[in-house]
Amino acid sequence: MTESPPRSGVTIEVRGLRKRYRSTVAVDDLSFTVEPGMVTGFVGPNGAGKSTTMRIILGLDAADEGSALVGGRPYRVLDRPLRTVGALLDAAAVHPGRSARNHLLWLAQSNAIPRRRVDEVLDLAGLATVAKRNVGGFSLGMRQRLGIAAALLGDPAVVIFDEPINGLDIEGIQWIRSLLRSLAGEGRAVLVSSHLMSELEDTADHLLVIGRGRLLADTSVRELVTTASGDRVAVRTGMRTEAMTTLANAGALATITDGETVTVSGLPVEHVIELLTRDGVAFTGVSAHRASLEEAYMELTRDAVEFGAAAGREG
Ligand code: ADP
Repeated sequence: MTESPPRSGVTIEVRGLRKRYRSTVAVDDLSFTVEPGMVTGFVGPNGAGKSTTMRIILGLDAADEGSALVGGRPYRVLDRPLRTVGALLDAAAVHPGRSARNHLLWLAQSNAIPRRRVDEVLDLAGLATVAKRNVGGFSLGMRQRLGIAAALLGDPAVVIFDEPINGLDIEGIQWIRSLLRSLAGEGRAVLVSSHLMSELEDTADHLLVIGRGRLLADTSVRELVTTASGDRVAVRTGMRTEAMTTLANAGALATITDGETVTVSGLPVEHVIELLTRDGVAFTGVSAHRASLEEAYMELTRDAVEFGAAAGREG
């Protein structure tokens, strides 16, 4: 994107969104904002409602309740939508008998986008050398790249990618990660989904964790790890009652786990030491069990996964 001007702060705003398919509640009172200038990871187990939410934002499905706005307006009233929102949903949904270049030319024409932009995005997506080949012969990775080229055709302020990393080789994964970072760096709002936290933990600035259609966390990557209850600090002290009082007053969950130990969750170890020192609570040892982001995510989504497996939807 050599000539992109700084973006103008376009957000995605989802408020009170609900969607039901017969007996399945796919999206259950979902509210969040996707901010410009950062990568927002939309993570949750398979069946959590990520694609449904994205389809509703893109006007491909209607919500039962609530609203999803892009730059303050519903997608369906945007004129030239490709110029505001670029999306990759299902990379397989391309006419197999068409060349990559013709596919993009057709999209460009229908959105009043100049032809030269087609060559720019083919370059950007690393498809310039295969631009004349029929899409039918493309690998999954090449289709993903084509889907992303199409999403970026209108130089949009908002990009929405559903599971873009799924099924890619290492090179493709690295490419998408750095592309996401640079799109956010240009000031765009970037919403990207995955059912695997590990795919996004080094790429996302912010995380929306969802399970069974509900928002489980709306947080920075760092905060999620800190607040995970797997993040525990064990304090060895003869002053257990005093330690409990100090920690409870600081809002931590503290329990006496054996004769000499108080276990604290919800506070970083440095803060625990600081508080105990401040209140003159003597201790003989402090040890931290730091939850990984993956553990924090597993814990948050455990119920949703059990539900999914019970319904035969392991993924
Ligand atoms: P995710 O993208 O997180 O894997 P989805 O949004 O695809 O989740 O699905 C959420 C739930 O809604 C799932 O239980 C799924 O089976 C159901 N669902 C999604 N689309 C449809 C549909 N068109 N008809 C019926 N059920 C659907």
